[in-house]
Parts: sequence; C-alpha cells; structure tokens
Amino acid sequence: MTAALDTLLQQARACRLCEAELPFGPRPVLRAHPAARLLIVSQAPGTRVHETGIPFNDPSGDRLRAWLAVERDTFYDEHRIALVPMGFCYPGRDERGGDKPPRPECAPAWQPPIRAALPRVELTLLVGLYAQGFYLQDRRRASLTETVRAWRDYLPDFLPLPHPSWRNTAWLKRNPWFEEELLPELRQRVHTLL
Ligand code: SF4
Repeated sequence: MTAALDTLLQQARACRLCEAELPFGPRPVLRAHPAARLLIVSQAPGTRVHETGIPFNDPSGDRLRAWLAVERDTFYDEHRIALVPMGFCYPGRDERGGDKPPRPECAPAWQPPIRAALPRVELTLLVGLYAQGFYLQDRRRASLTETVRAWRDYLPDFLPLPHPSWRNTAWLKRNPWFEEELLPELRQRVHTLL
C-alpha cells in the first residue's frame, strides 16, 4: 500500500464532512489498494452494508458478482478490485421508502484524490446515474438507458451499468441487449484484468 492511498483511506474512514445530514451517522464503506486494475464506482451503502461495513454485501452485490462472473473471494480482493462508491456512508431513506441518493459532498471530496492514487486501474465500472454523471460529465446521454446503451463509446476506460438492485429487474427485462451484448464484453474485460 502506498503511503498516499493509505493516508487517504484513513482520512476517508474518519470523514465527518456531512455528518449532520446522515440519520445513522458516518460509517464510510470503501476498499482500495494501489494494485487494483478494476475500479467500481457505485452509489452509496444500503442498510445491510451500513450494518456490516462490507460493500455490496447484499442481493445487489450478488447480482453484480453474477454480472461480472466473479466469486466473492475475488470480488473482495482489494488488490484486484477497488470499491469506491459515490457516497461512502448510508444516506438514509426517502419518503417513499427507497434509499436516498449519495450525499453530494462525498464524491467531489474523495473521488479525485482516491482515483489519482489508483494508478493501475484500467477499467472503471460506473454503476448508476450518479457515477455516470460524475465521471462522464457532458458525455453522458439524456437518460441512464441511453448512456448504458452507448457503452461502446466509453471504452476502454469506462463501462456504464444500471444499478444491480431488484428495483431494476423490469429494466433488465425491457433491455435484453444488456445481457446479450454488454455482459459478455464486461465479463471478458474483467477476466482479462483480474
Ligand atoms: S458520506 Fe462521504 S462526505 Fe459524508 S461523512 Fe461519509 S465519507 Fe464524509
């Protein structure tokens, strides 16, 4: 572990920047090592991740691992995969019972320095609207579906994905090209990197 990333991770794990907005308090959940060649930028922890402190330790994680065709051991090997979400702490629930979006303070404070301390990353998976907006900026299309459908335009650096939540099961049914075209390419690239 380089001193730069080690220091950054310690600072991030001690972050209290938006503490006043977090109903369950800060508990930053992220994993990274300078050797990682795959970076996954997702949204924010849900309740189960908040409780366990393990990213993607929930049904969304199971679906994401199935998309990547990797086992849990590989997925949690931070020498290979860095897991750095747009919001490190659980943001609480909205009025409709869903999870709130990642806190807007988090990504501007932490994504640039952490990304700069991951020199071996060759592919970044942008999971969901927030990660796509932050990294693709005006290269993002008008909707998540259009951005993900244009996935070939963002390679070799980025691959946009929908969130693997059960809430997107209907989206997956409506967009069969995702499983038929994007996932085989994703799996091939991930396995080459790992
Ligand atoms: S969500 Fe991000 S900015 Fe807010 S306290 Fe947690 S680590 Fe800090």
